[in-house]
Amino acid sequence: KVRVRFAPSPTGPLHIGGVRTALFNYLFAKKHGGDFILRIEDTDQARYVEGAEDYIIEALNWCNIPFDEGPGKEKDAAPYRQSERKGLYREYAEKLIASGNAYYAFDTAEELDKHREQHEAEGKTFIYNWHNRQKLKNSLSLPEAEVQQKIEAGEAYVIRFKAPENETLHLKDEIRGEMTIETKILDDKVLFKSDGMPTYHLANIVDDHLMKITHVIRGEEWLPSLALHELLYRAFEWTAPKFAHLPLILKPQGKGKLSKRDGDKMGFPVFPLEWKDPKSGDISSGYREEGYYPEAVVNMLALLGWNAGGGTEKEIYSLEELTQAFSLEHVSKGGSKFDPEKTKWFQHHYMQETANEKLAADLVDLLKTKDISTTPEYARQIVALLKERTTFLSDFWNQGSYFFTAPENYDEKAVKKAWKEDTPQILQQVIEILENTEDFSAGNVQDRVKSWITSEGIGFGKVMQPFRISLVGAMQGPDVFDIAAAIGKEETIARLQKAKQ
Ligand code: GLU
Repeated sequence: KVRVRFAPSPTGPLHIGGVRTALFNYLFAKKHGGDFILRIEDTDQARYVEGAEDYIIEALNWCNIPFDEGPGKEKDAAPYRQSERKGLYREYAEKLIASGNAYYAFDTAEELDKHREQHEAEGKTFIYNWHNRQKLKNSLSLPEAEVQQKIEAGEAYVIRFKAPENETLHLKDEIRGEMTIETKILDDKVLFKSDGMPTYHLANIVDDHLMKITHVIRGEEWLPSLALHELLYRAFEWTAPKFAHLPLILKPQGKGKLSKRDGDKMGFPVFPLEWKDPKSGDISSGYREEGYYPEAVVNMLALLGWNAGGGTEKEIYSLEELTQAFSLEHVSKGGSKFDPEKTKWFQHHYMQETANEKLAADLVDLLKTKDISTTPEYARQIVALLKERTTFLSDFWNQGSYFFTAPENYDEKAVKKAWKEDTPQILQQVIEILENTEDFSAGNVQDRVKSWITSEGIGFGKVMQPFRISLVGAMQGPDVFDIAAAIGKEETIARLQKAKQ
């Protein structure tokens, strides 16, 4: 059975790239009828950030890509937080020592710094591996009795992996294909730290094994760790899962990895949900709070580095359709540019797909926050009139506040262009016509006003422009007769009265 995991470290809010990793894992699992697991990799206590785990879970739920197993959804593989699995890693590190695949190292941080400096002075880079491990302080270089004595005396040590000296590894990535790596360039990575905690590498491999993970789908930044991970599986005599490393998400300009700074500079969020930094109190914007629908965000993310293949031009995919169409074969090797405008385009699409009733109900709630009360019926009427032009719910207010409150001032430029000496008299005549109009439907009002304009032989714009400015405050919005009918006879006349002065 396919089992995949998303394994974030709770060091801050989930970046949009992390959400994409989670999404691809989710799609792969669902496509193959498998399980999607959330594992919290919190072994690095120093980088732990309060609230990050809750944020991750909330973000996955908001995107409608919930996990099947994880914190709060305990199954056989529980617990799912590495901090709660702490006790089990040492045993595995010691197994590797026993099998000759790992060793104790006693070098202090200062000693290692010194080695680095010395190498640098000679124009070389210090790598802790086969090349010089004999010259350093570890259980491969020291007599066994001394090693025992150090351990018994409680001297601090780490456990390092013993990377093979001279081997060519053939690695396979489901997206990138075959790669070869010479082990002589690898360093003897620390597996177990002096603070009694495993490093990412050890905990990750042990947990993927114990949790029966079949496919590791993760970001490209982990590709350099693949050789070590394959070697660890070999050392444990475990079958390794298949690996797939997802391409980077690039800056909108195309060069380099997308970062929070790009979003700040260009005014788009790089996080799914708003995040308040617990230390600085700084707030980073999120797609949810900016008014995006999760369907839009998910659709946008799915196409960052994946396409259905077959030359299809299709861009709109529901989660269901994505699940059907997804495959690792069609994930690209190269990075994909992030496009904030395209995200808006998806949002606009999903806005149009949303039922008017739902939008009307949301609009009523939104207006409540502005102390404006409306009926669902009225909101529905406005939604029908404005929907096509809107991308976000807030657009109904930003573009259509005149449906709910009279304009407080008039766009100066528009007034300058539209207002003529006889405008007040014209508006007065329009008022009189409207006063005598019983049926205030858009169609009827339009007939009355337009036939009057024609019979008087006045320019159309001379009437219609001031009329619109009086109701809206600017030269914008849908058909002015629709606006008049919506706000009603009394309000229309009141606005014309006010503008005419
Ligand atoms: N904890 C790692 C991260 O934060 C997980 C990498 C992996 O999936 O192996 O990205």
